[in-house]
Amino acid sequence: MITKKPIVAANWKMYKTPQEGVTFVIEICNLLLDKEKPTIIFCPSFTSLFHINENLPDSGIELGSQNVYFESEGAFTGETSVQMLKDCGVRYVIIGHSERRHIFNENNASLNKKLHVVLDNGLVPIFCIGETFDDRNAGYTQRILKEQLAKGLDGIKGQLIDRMVIAYEPVWAIGTGVNAEPKQVEDTHLQINELLAELYANELVKQIPILYGGSVKPENAKALIEVEGVDGFLVGGASLKLELFFKIIKIVNNNYMG
Ligand code: PEP
Repeated sequence: MITKKPIVAANWKMYKTPQEGVTFVIEICNLLLDKEKPTIIFCPSFTSLFHINENLPDSGIELGSQNVYFESEGAFTGETSVQMLKDCGVRYVIIGHSERRHIFNENNASLNKKLHVVLDNGLVPIFCIGETFDDRNAGYTQRILKEQLAKGLDGIKGQLIDRMVIAYEPVWAIGTGVNAEPKQVEDTHLQINELLAELYANELVKQIPILYGGSVKPENAKALIEVEGVDGFLVGGASLKLELFFKIIKIVNNNYMG
């Protein structure tokens, strides 16, 4: 059962134009009007951030980006700095999504630099970790998560860690329609907590929300949000459809409100 305020984050990947994004966010706000709600974060493409921020009703809905570069400015064609994101109203930054790791070859060392720059500048990273299908079958899940956490969080001080969000996203569950089973999620979230406790004091670790991501949809959201240690979701495909995303938010909220 969740005790922290739950988080439902939408990763829109490379979908939706700025205008489609604004329309979607306004429609969700209208559906949620005056209702108690989880922390809802929309992570659209860079091109939509400014436009959505300018048109975001005063709704408590948060804006996140899907990536950032670790340098503050310079000759880095195609990259976007933390300050540029802040100027677009961004508060959350997804770091280390498996598509960034696997398609764009991001590694633990560059992700570590990104985590530092995001935290040092007052933003909140949503740090994604997770094993591949082969890792899990070979019994390497814990080893992989340990490496991703230890190298990703290298040098990050305890006083910053309570501003961190972790997303456990098994690579084999992302965009496949096959979610991890509740028992697998429970066991892995427990392992993540134990691994974090090797790096930071227990009182700090308890404050870090750990989201689950990987084929979350209305059909499985209730069983997954009831899992001990799941503090919310990072949702890809189902966050692109208003009806599906709204249902997921409602399920998470009902679980929180009891
Ligand atoms: C994601 O992109 O982070 C994700 C979890 O995608 P999906 O929900 O489509 O599996």
